[in-house]
Amino acid sequence: PSFSMGTLKTAMSIARATDKGAFSLIGGGDSIAAVNKYSLAHKISYISTAGGALLEYLEGKELSSIKAIKQNLTIDRYNFEGKKVLMRVDFNVPLNENREITDTTRIITALPTVRKITSEGGAVIFMTHLGRPKGQYDENLSLKHIVPFLSKALDKDVKFVNNCIGNEAEKAAAELKPGECLLLENLRFHKEETNADEEFARKLAALGDAFVFNAFGTAHRAHASTYTIAKFFPKDKMFGYLVESEIKNIDKVVKQAKSPFTAIIGGSKVSTKIHIILALLEKVDNLIIGGGIVFTFIKAMGGKVGNSLIEDDQLDVAKQIIAKAKENGVNLYLPTDCIIADQFKNDAHIEHCNINEIPDGWMGLDIGIKSANKFTEVIENSSTLLWNGPIGVFEMSNFSMGTLKVAMAVARATDKGAYSLIGGGDSISAVNKYSLAYKISYISTAGGALLEYIEGKKLPAIKAIEEDI
Ligand code: AMP
Repeated sequence: PSFSMGTLKTAMSIARATDKGAFSLIGGGDSIAAVNKYSLAHKISYISTAGGALLEYLEGKELSSIKAIKQNLTIDRYNFEGKKVLMRVDFNVPLNENREITDTTRIITALPTVRKITSEGGAVIFMTHLGRPKGQYDENLSLKHIVPFLSKALDKDVKFVNNCIGNEAEKAAAELKPGECLLLENLRFHKEETNADEEFARKLAALGDAFVFNAFGTAHRAHASTYTIAKFFPKDKMFGYLVESEIKNIDKVVKQAKSPFTAIIGGSKVSTKIHIILALLEKVDNLIIGGGIVFTFIKAMGGKVGNSLIEDDQLDVAKQIIAKAKENGVNLYLPTDCIIADQFKNDAHIEHCNINEIPDGWMGLDIGIKSANKFTEVIENSSTLLWNGPIGVFEMSNFSMGTLKVAMAVARATDKGAYSLIGGGDSISAVNKYSLAYKISYISTAGGALLEYIEGKKLPAIKAIEEDI
């Protein structure tokens, strides 16, 4: 009793903090014994019975028994010999007017999983969508355009059927031999796909013996081929390598971020970024805002933004974000100066001014050098970085300095040991344009799915594999 005051006081403070709304976790035999002794256990949010396992889990170690259970879901523990494997991929690739693929990333990144299966004597049946045909056949969006590239990349003739369900598909699937691949026509030629129709999912499921989900970019969609279909494979469903690696890398930011954690959010629409910004305000030390979304914040703070991009219906949201950042102790960095133009084109007249003093008739199209330098300093002093959305109209060379500077700073921070994650089409094209992609820790191919995962939402396709649905 002479030496228990410190422990008692600590227990009482934790109980009081919990009363006021904090989440409290107590673990380890002695700490549990103490709160029990002082009859405070009922005031603690959660008491973990684990000692060593709790500490190791908190340290970020992967516990072996947890790993073993998780591994049941992976393709490394599955015997593919003689199996026909339905693989949901995201071959929604950009095509030019000659229907040639202009960026093959989504196909290339799916292939290690395919090779793993075919090399073990399995056959692969690819399911994917392409574009938004709204439930109707559209020649321009036929997957027949990607067969030549897919065959070349896999170094084998990939078979193709004109309809993803029906007699022809059933016959082609039945005739498929070990090591062969079959591509089904665009799933979205049937409206049942996006409606998550159970009968449609059943018909797709009947074509294979196992289901591999390898399309992280579509994981936030509860469609027939991403969600409903999983119920027909209760014991034979798993993630492909692409999805596994996306989750592992995004978790480094979501679950294991090292401080200082800086998020950089740019782009053009506040309304599409609100949820991610609000979620990040619970996780980050620094939040840098750039791009067109800045001006809604500047206007909300009473600044003059001229003809810059503004979402008037988001002014209150911007104010709410500013207040929340303050409340959570997050350093919010908005640009202080900017590059303005009298027209939305590269060869417009260009000036430099304070961001809250933009004259009428002018619009802010990039951040200014003072802001770029400040952003660089914050980024280079970070240990974890997340970047989504360009900092200016980087497609036009006169307004690309901010995006280039941010890309360079993220690359330099990574060189110095930070973990960096970039997601979203424009930020990826920016780092590619500046040949900095190889300097980034991880580039996620997913846009919407990435943002929803970071927000903490359980993505339907992930749930469908991990749980019984
Ligand atoms: P998002 O799809 O919302 O990530 O927005 C990407 C687009 O934002 C890119 O095409 C950029 O050109 C654009 N953008 C970035 N900064 C600005 C700005 N200051 N004014 C208008 N558009 C911008």
